[in-house]
Order: sequence, then C-alpha cells, then structure tokens
Amino acid sequence: MPRRKPTIKRAAAAAHGRSPAGASIRSRHPDPKTVQAENHLNTLGKHLKARFGTRVRKLSLHVGFTCPNRDGTLGRGGCTFCSVLSFNDGNPQASVSEQLAAGKAATNRASRYLAYFQAYTNTYQEVEELRRLYAEAMAQADIVGLCVGTRPDCVPDAVLEMLAAYRNQGYEVWLELGLQSAHDVTLARVNRGHGFAAYADAVARARRYGIPVCTHLILGLPEESPAMMVETHARVLECGVEGLKLHPLMIVKGSRLAADHARGRVAAPALADYVATAAELIRRTPAEVIFHRITATAREPMLIAPDWCHTRWPAADAICADLARCGGQGSHAQLAAHAAAKDFPLPPEAAPRCATQSR
Ligand code: SF4
Repeated sequence: MPRRKPTIKRAAAAAHGRSPAGASIRSRHPDPKTVQAENHLNTLGKHLKARFGTRVRKLSLHVGFTCPNRDGTLGRGGCTFCSVLSFNDGNPQASVSEQLAAGKAATNRASRYLAYFQAYTNTYQEVEELRRLYAEAMAQADIVGLCVGTRPDCVPDAVLEMLAAYRNQGYEVWLELGLQSAHDVTLARVNRGHGFAAYADAVARARRYGIPVCTHLILGLPEESPAMMVETHARVLECGVEGLKLHPLMIVKGSRLAADHARGRVAAPALADYVATAAELIRRTPAEVIFHRITATAREPMLIAPDWCHTRWPAADAICADLARCGGQGSHAQLAAHAAAKDFPLPPEAAPRCATQSR
C-alpha cells in the first residue's frame, strides 16, 4: 500500500504541539498487520467507531486566528518549538464550509467527521465570532462533533458554555489543551507564557461544564528527564482528563529551537527514549482515557530532527511492540496511583520493568 504523502499541515500540527487531522494511529500503515494499536490502548478511532458505528475523521480548520504568545499580548516570539511557517499551508481566506468540503474530498474512508479548529489559538477571538464559526461547521449534517485546540489561559467560561451546549445536543466535543509539561520551569524555558496553574484552572472549569479535555504533552523537551515526564503525566491525571496526545519534541524550521539545535544546544529525542517513555505513560494511564495520538510527524522540508519523525511508523510500531511485550494501557495505572498517593512522583525505575525493555 503506498504511503500517504506528508503535508505541510502535518508539520504545522506537529510544530504547534498538536496532532495533524486525519492522521490516526492506525491509518495507512505500509503493513496494516504490523500495528494493532487498538489491541493495546484506547484510541480515539476506536471510541468514535463504537459511538457512531462508522469511521469518523477529523477535518482540520485554519480560520485565521492568532495567538497571544505571538501578537504581543503575552509575547512575540511564541513557544520555542513553534514555527509560523507551519501554519502557512492552511487557507484562512476560505470559509469554514469550503475548508470542510476540501477536507472531505481529500479523504474517502469516512462518512462522518469532526470539525477540528486547529491552527493557532482557537478560542482567542470574540465569543460571537467563535459562535458564528463553530455554528457554520456544525450546521453540516455529516459533522458529528467539534474539537477546539487552544491554550489553557484562553478558555473563558463563555466559550465553555458554548461547547457544553453542543455537547448537550449530542455532539462529540473535545477541548484540546496544549500543556506540553506540568513543570513551570520547563514552561518558562520554552516560553509558553503560562504556568501549570492556568492549565489546572481551565480543566477544573471545563469539568464543571462537563466538557471532555484532551491534553497535549511533548516528550523530550529541553532538560526534561523521564521522571519529569512521568510527573507531568501524573499531575495531568490528577487534575482529571478524558484524552491525551503524546508528541516527541520535533525541531522544525523557523522555530527558535531550530537555532538552538544548529548551535548544538538542543538535541531531539532518540527513538528508543521516546518509545520507552511513551509506552510507560500509556501503561500508567487508566483504561478509560482516550489516546488521540501517541506520536507525530513532520514533512521533509520542515523537519530538522529527529529523522524518525518523517513517518509515524517507527515510533508507533515500537510503542505497540513495547505495549504488547510489557503490558498495555492501564497495566501500571494502579501502581502509579498508589505511588502518587504515597511517594509522589514515582520514578520510572520504580515501576515493574519489562525484561526486554531497552532502558
Ligand atoms: S501557543 Fe501560540 S506560540 Fe505556542 S504553539 Fe500554540 S500558536 Fe505556537
């Protein structure tokens, strides 16, 4: 089976710490028998198939928003891993309906879709304008849900109320929050412009409105150890979360990290390290939490490092093999919860190890 050609949009999502639309864990593998992620973890695809009885695809939208970490409200440089070049492929001049139509035409394996407001910060606009844009998407009969990607410090109650109204009408609704790390020292280092407290507050308010939250985490951020990533994961679970996206740190052109990487100050994660940490986090995740993504990709002109992120299969295959060998989602969750209550955080070395695990 031919591989799907990577697009700039995939690089955009990756640089933004977000998942490319239509790039599910199990899609278009060169050998479909090799990856059976759904045997080992609770995937979004599996959840949507169970709920709607058919394949459901996310359609990515770029509606011309910006970001307070770029427009000067909070900062101008943006997060160090983010590149504005990543957003150039979207067409914010096209209407929501036009973008959805183009997305549907590009995928022939689904009959139901989620409208994914993805590029930049998709709650950073007047509420009435957001209402108009969301409503344009939801008016289409084959759109069964809404995913909104944003920053934790840009989620006013008025937006949550609007999302809750869609959920109460029976739509699939996800608030996708970029957190990346629960460590304020890391968040400051990557210039996020918010701390963990803003995330905890946004999640608490979303839960009051009954809105499922999918949290985006980057593994391999500068100066983060595996134990720090485990602690981030534990703190996210402690706040309560319905979905997770795991990404490796990718160095992409146009980002501030790209300059640091060129000077030898920042290294991209090794595949073995990413796989070991991602698999460990999946084992520590309760079975009901839905994984929207366990790795990410960027295309050749944008991606500087790591080279194994040109396609998702090296990481996805290795993670699934690790889960098959050492235990799937939830197999360490009880232990992790116990450790969190008694001796928080649990270092990775304290968890039951797989004899064949690399580290
Ligand atoms: S919050 Fe802003 S600067 Fe940071 S990744 Fe998102 S768009 Fe880029």
